[in-house]
Amino acid sequence: MPLRPQRKNYEVRAHALAEIPVLPREVSHAQAGLKDYYASLAAALGPMRWWPARTPFEVIVGAILTQNTAWSNVERAIENLRRERLLTFAALERVPTAKLQRLVRPSGYFRQKARKLKAFVEFLRNQHGGSLARMFRTPTSELREQLLGVHGIGRETADSILLYAGNHPVFVVDAYTHRILERHGFVRGKPDYEGARKLFESQLPRDTRLYNEFHALIVNTGKNWCRKREPRCADCPLASFLPPNSPLRLHVSVPLSELAAEARP
Ligand code: SF4
Repeated sequence: MPLRPQRKNYEVRAHALAEIPVLPREVSHAQAGLKDYYASLAAALGPMRWWPARTPFEVIVGAILTQNTAWSNVERAIENLRRERLLTFAALERVPTAKLQRLVRPSGYFRQKARKLKAFVEFLRNQHGGSLARMFRTPTSELREQLLGVHGIGRETADSILLYAGNHPVFVVDAYTHRILERHGFVRGKPDYEGARKLFESQLPRDTRLYNEFHALIVNTGKNWCRKREPRCADCPLASFLPPNSPLRLHVSVPLSELAAEARP
């Protein structure tokens, strides 16, 4: 997943709030809704400007290549493809698989990923005549089902394609999303992708800009604060929303009321 550098300069808030959808905020306590989480993250971190790509086709290539690897590796693979002018449907359809494997090698699992890219262009050819515009005119739920039927495209990749390349209102869920939901008491037990997606979509307006920004903010929070081991709750913009009985509150060394106030513009 692409990651913008962590922002700790709260001076950017006014600029950020002018550019991205901001929901009304209410209270900051353990039972706050997801819109409150969004408002705090947006205020603290500013606009993420995802997805870092020049075209919708490049978004799709990036969404496939980013599986199981760091975004910095994807960037190297994308740069290889760009240099060879392969970031179009027609070029990717024509390129020999062996050459494609060599070019996407920096992103890891290069044989599998080359096969997945080829599977996507084959799907685009067969189902939509090679036209992304035509593909994205398909109703959201129908297109989601089609994408999930393509080799190598799972839920997170399909939803990233729908949202970031096609502007369809689908919330993208990843491991960071599950972790934050679980640590804040929204869910329990094994990660449930569809359950988490529906939770966000039921609590938020169907707004693609909002979904775009919120998922990017969650990824940023996960990478910078909500780590699997030793989460950095004391500095996290979401610290004020930790449930009262959470053991992670022990990580917060200053009064939560002060953290909540700091996270506000
Ligand atoms: S780091 Fe702590 S406060 Fe931040 S999201 Fe994770 S659990 Fe919540």
